Amino acid sequence: MEIDYLNQQLKVTFLPYPTPGHMIPMIDSARIFAKHGVHVTIITTNSNALSFQKSIDNDFNYGYSIKTHLIQFPAAQVNLPNGVENIKDATSLEILGKISHGISMLQDQIELLIQDLQPDCIVTDMCYPWTVELAAKIGIPRIYFYSSSYFSTCASYLIQKHRPHDKLVSNTEKFSVPGFEENIEMIPLQLAEWIRTKTNYSCYFEALFESEGRSYGAIYNSFHELESDYEQLYKSTIGIKTWSIGPVAMLVNNDDGENGNRELEIEPDWLNWLNSQQHDSVLYVSFGSLARLPRAQLVEIAHGLESSGHNFIWVVRNKKVEEEKGESFIKDFEHRMKESKKGYIIWNWAPQVVILEHPAIGGIVTHCGWNSILESLNSGIAMITWPMFAEQFYNEKLLVDVLKIGISMGVKENKFFMSKSEEATVTREEITSAVKILMGSCEKSNEMRSRVKNLSDAAKKTIQEGGSSYNNFINLIHDLKLLKKTRQLSNNINVV
Ligand code: UDP
Repeated sequence: MEIDYLNQQLKVTFLPYPTPGHMIPMIDSARIFAKHGVHVTIITTNSNALSFQKSIDNDFNYGYSIKTHLIQFPAAQVNLPNGVENIKDATSLEILGKISHGISMLQDQIELLIQDLQPDCIVTDMCYPWTVELAAKIGIPRIYFYSSSYFSTCASYLIQKHRPHDKLVSNTEKFSVPGFEENIEMIPLQLAEWIRTKTNYSCYFEALFESEGRSYGAIYNSFHELESDYEQLYKSTIGIKTWSIGPVAMLVNNDDGENGNRELEIEPDWLNWLNSQQHDSVLYVSFGSLARLPRAQLVEIAHGLESSGHNFIWVVRNKKVEEEKGESFIKDFEHRMKESKKGYIIWNWAPQVVILEHPAIGGIVTHCGWNSILESLNSGIAMITWPMFAEQFYNEKLLVDVLKIGISMGVKENKFFMSKSEEATVTREEITSAVKILMGSCEKSNEMRSRVKNLSDAAKKTIQEGGSSYNNFINLIHDLKLLKKTRQLSNNINVV
């Protein structure tokens, strides 16, 4: 039998981790693989599949070879109600622990399944370090996936390696990120707790990040024109192959207008209102899929937004708590703002990409999750940066100090998203002042807007045929096909 290796179909299996910031960009990436002729299988549990299955079905019906393989979440064994299978569903540390435990129990099932599927490659979320050994056992490449910036990966790696914060006498003293050409200053409090000091979780996180260097390569949801210096630094520090193929959301959304869970079936009230607003006049406020802010902070944001005089859409993920406590302040505020046509609150989950693409949106307050940053940048929207946890403080530095498309809210402390802290960290006055600058027309905000528009144009070009992300993707497929050929040759199958 003779096989033309370049015309063979690749089989790639995707293993997403069930939290929106990880899962959404991985599903987008899987869809791009399928659009390039790859036979794609996505492994996930029932309730997680519900959030994206419609897009997969559409792609499949369009003729692409893509499917979801469902596995059973062990709800009864971890004592959770059916359907609670995603990190975003955690409303307490206890539930978070149960969800994480349930996810870790899937390992055996997944290992057997992948051995059965016999893919040519696994694209795996960072949170499954054991896929390094699995891939080695089957003799296929493991591609590491974590939707974050090169900037943050390099900063985190170099800070862990050189530990500049250990030499300081206080948690609020500044240090410079080691190994960076630009002088990027941070304080120890802005580092994730597991990096700042040795915690029970340090080993867990270290293993996740360490598995990156033991992978065949990594896919980055980034693009050359955005952070090429840090892409280079990544190659020399982490030392593995990397392909920048982003922004992936823009690619799938541009291609066919499909938006997965982000498309709207009915026209909500706030959309009618948004349609009536002037271009670039409305501020969007969102802290991503996981953060739930303390009541005191919600009150400060409400006052800050109202005093700014700018119209807004604000996503609040505290509805249950509000209802349980019989809290009325935010409800009253919501009612008053709606009546006076000043703004809307969207509870729990907003179709973020649809909102950011709306011409009336002129700015965002963001927690600096990488996906939210890319989605804002795609839409050409400048940002107020309000990082909260994980690598978000590094991303803030990239936006404010390097790209100069963000205004910092000046947050000093990195707190786990399930932190029990009840304090407000940013005052209403600080919020009002930052919003006035971002949404106003001073020189600083005009310059930021112009820079972010240029990046948005670059993002559009990079994913088109001939653009760098497009070319990187083609190179990745070529590379995987060559690896497949080598494997087949060593298994004595005739290849031309
Ligand atoms: N998201 C959304 N609606 C929401 C909250 C989040 O569509 O109400 C999406 C958002 O568009 C992004 C992802 O969820 O694609 C969040 O990822 P990000 O990296 O910004 O932050 P995380 O949620 O991981 O903190």
